[in-house]
Amino acid sequence: MTMTVEHTLLTRVPDALLIGGRWRPASDGATLAVRDPATGAVIKEIASASVEDGGAALDAACEAFPSWSETPARVRAEILRKAFDLLMERKEDFALLMSLEMGKTLAEARGEVAYGGEFLRWFSEEAVRAVGRYAPSPEGHGRMIVTQHPVGPCYLITPWNFPLAMATRKIAPALAAGCTVVIKPAELTPLTTLLFARLLEDAGLPPGVVNVITTSHSGAVSEPIIRDPRLRKLSFTGSTPVGVRLLEQAAGGVLRTSMELGGNAPFVVFEDADLDKAVEGAMAAKFRNIGQACTAANRFIVHESVAEEFARRVTHRVAELRVGRGTDEGVEIGPLIDDRAVSKAESLVADAVERGARLRTGGHGIDGPGTFFEPTVVTDVAAGSDILREEIFGPVLAIVPFSTEDEAVAIANDTEYGLVSYVYTESLSRGQRMIERLATGMMGLNMGVVSNAAAPFGGWKMSGLGREGGAEGIHEYLQTKYTLTPSPFA
Ligand code: NAP
Repeated sequence: MTMTVEHTLLTRVPDALLIGGRWRPASDGATLAVRDPATGAVIKEIASASVEDGGAALDAACEAFPSWSETPARVRAEILRKAFDLLMERKEDFALLMSLEMGKTLAEARGEVAYGGEFLRWFSEEAVRAVGRYAPSPEGHGRMIVTQHPVGPCYLITPWNFPLAMATRKIAPALAAGCTVVIKPAELTPLTTLLFARLLEDAGLPPGVVNVITTSHSGAVSEPIIRDPRLRKLSFTGSTPVGVRLLEQAAGGVLRTSMELGGNAPFVVFEDADLDKAVEGAMAAKFRNIGQACTAANRFIVHESVAEEFARRVTHRVAELRVGRGTDEGVEIGPLIDDRAVSKAESLVADAVERGARLRTGGHGIDGPGTFFEPTVVTDVAAGSDILREEIFGPVLAIVPFSTEDEAVAIANDTEYGLVSYVYTESLSRGQRMIERLATGMMGLNMGVVSNAAAPFGGWKMSGLGREGGAEGIHEYLQTKYTLTPSPFA
């Protein structure tokens, strides 16, 4: 990959806020710098929105709402479909841009373009199916009509780890439902959303339907938007503590909310698992996105009779992973997002080792430039270790042995999170029992990756509220009206 290709791409990324169809600088002229985590170098300076800019973006979304919500569903669907086609044409641009601003490998970034694009295609298909129902009342005197309506202007907040997919997973169902939006990507990886907004313009999206604010003051800019009575929906993907704070703000206006929050996924390997498949699944569930996924397996709970063999095999694989800049050929593990992420991974491993865990490979940050961490395996992790409680968000695979099925279930469910679980067993009945016993919103049964635009993605407990994707996804942006009329025969 030459610097010229990177440079040309970066010059094509807008450096301004998109408000009401106009790209403009921040009202106070403020900017923020976006860095490549593999080198620490600034790759672009962009506008940093003020509180006033946030208000202007909401004004624009409110102004565009009446006409967009009345635009025929088929027209909205065609724009989303066109956006999908354009994204597929431009997939290399988006893959490279994500690799540059977030650090993931080009191969993974291409995977994210494919995954993120599917939300555009899926919701272009769902847009025309937001149907209601018509039914006689049970006593026969009335007719009940149930219709679906867009909730109104929405505020979408996305995290840095999947810069494209987290945006399309919210924008596509919102637009399909007839809602207008203000989207605020994370300060660390805002460029992909800006380039995607330009793509939406090329797909024919009218001004004001999608407004983009990038800012280094996310809290100060967001709160007035969330508390504005014109806003009707908040959709947030990010950490649980921030999600809780935003729910408190949203309560004042009784906003509809979708919360895709943190995870602490158990990956349970039973003694009857196919170990080849389990190791393959473990590598995907743990090291996808450099371990920085809400769905990343956090705790490997492995039956004591196969724990050593599983550890030996994964350690062999992990020790061979190639670490480097995501854009370089053959690299499998890019940098972590920043210094804090490296320190956190280091301290979680150190705590586990202090409490008796065995470090099998890795365990340390790698000297700069860039914020790299060695792919790591720790085994025999003791109950109570921080690594079992906190989201690792890094390439660290922690193994805990168990002896009975009840014990595995107890360990797996011993967390306030409930996003996803992974189970490896060749027993059908045991697999079915796990579906019923593990308290998570999603499960990979002999599968290490579950994400799919056609499926309802979301968590239980403190992992969130609502679902993104699937037939459920569009309903997060629709509200139901029930009308009673007399029977035409009365
Ligand atoms: P984060 O710190 O909670 O930030 C998420 C987003 O919220 C960013 O855009 C951030 O902007 C913004 N934000 C932070 N504080 C805010 C405030 N007070 N008011 C309004 N917005 C605020 O999370 P992150 O570190 O970016 O992402 C990692 C987390 O996301 C992990 O916990 C992961 O599990 C979770 N995640 C969940 C899912 C899911 O679907 N369940 C998917 C992906 C990630 P700034 O960064 O610019 O401040």
